[in-house]
Amino acid sequence: ESFQDVDMGEIVMGNIALTRYTRPTPVQKYAIPIVKSKRDLMACAQTGSGKTAAFLLPILSQIYSEGPGEALNAAKENGKYGRRKQYPMALVLAPTRELALQIYDEARKFSYRSKVRPCVVYGGADIGQQIRDLERGCHLLVATPGRLVDMMERGKIGLDYCNYLVLDEADRMLDMGFEPQIRRIVEQDTMPHKGIRQTLMFSATFPKEIQILARDFLEDYIFLAV
Ligand code: AMP
Repeated sequence: ESFQDVDMGEIVMGNIALTRYTRPTPVQKYAIPIVKSKRDLMACAQTGSGKTAAFLLPILSQIYSEGPGEALNAAKENGKYGRRKQYPMALVLAPTRELALQIYDEARKFSYRSKVRPCVVYGGADIGQQIRDLERGCHLLVATPGRLVDMMERGKIGLDYCNYLVLDEADRMLDMGFEPQIRRIVEQDTMPHKGIRQTLMFSATFPKEIQILARDFLEDYIFLAV
């Protein structure tokens, strides 16, 4: 098995080579083709399994192959008028600052030499600085739920063109009490609905509450346990 088994385009393949990941981990081997086939996914995978690249690689590959897209155009238009509000094409929700930063680091590696600019926002840090960073352009946003709600309320982020949604460590987000914020983000009218957007959920465990979230957020999903 190798990353060459699935064509993810020049930019992604080049950036994989730069990271020196030689072969896909099991979750990458199974999840990447599923995501590339545009299906929704519920994956049970632990930290350390390589789950971050399992969702980032195929999402970035699809964003690159789609060309600039509506969100990039909207972002450009916005640039003309002051860049006050950003419209990311992909959103990754994560429970903690540490995990959000790890995902952001991987996103930077895999978006190197592309037009896609990743950003990260999380609570407990200066919001002014995060807003200034967003205003430089944000196509892929990694966020903790509470801080994202804050950014939405301030009119800094619109999810109108967000066609890729990832809930990472969904069980931990629920344990930490983030369900109301997550529902507020995902169930708002302006967010592309399920079946239109592509949604991926990752969770170490699959209890009743996660099954309910999967039922509410995913459309005809594939279940993967590794
Ligand atoms: P994750 O489970 O996504 O937090 O990844 C755990 C660690 O494995 C991270 O430090 C990754 O950089 C690394 N990693 C992910 N995929 C691969 C791979 N295919 N080969 C080698 N290392 C990897």
